[in-house]
Amino acid sequence: MRIDRQKVWEKCEGHCGYCGEAIAINDMQVDHIWPQNRAHQIPGLAIHDHKNLMPACRVCNNWKSTYTVELFRLQIIDQVKQLRQRSANYRMAKRYGLIEETGLKVVFYFENRQTAACEMLRETVRDVAKAQTQTELDWMRKRYGVEL
Ligand SMILES: [Zn+2]
Repeated sequence: MRIDRQKVWEKCEGHCGYCGEAIAINDMQVDHIWPQNRAHQIPGLAIHDHKNLMPACRVCNNWKSTYTVELFRLQIIDQVKQLRQRSANYRMAKRYGLIEETGLKVVFYFENRQTAACEMLRETVRDVAKAQTQTELDWMRKRYGVEL
């Protein structure tokens, strides 16, 4: 199935659907909301269907990789903990008030846009999230210490 890049790019009006960075169509990467390597977990899912495609910048697409949207969100949340544990530079800068942890929720760009295209993206994310297995959800809770 041929992917219509123009149509994907227009979904978020030329922005990355995750971080919201403005992206030129030539720099846009096409993310599969439900990852391609997990297509078998949703029988009958047309993995390249337009509904499963998210416009993404290179950075977000690389980070999201084979994660689902919720796992990607947890990866982002986890960055602060990783810095706190692993970076003396981070701890020093924080000690002197140069860095402040906000505890903000990670909200993706497509989750806040009030357009029909973004509503469709939210619908797809909700639909495919049901395929996340209980084992995986338990693992995520334990690993990240958060309720999903
Ligand atoms: Zn992005």
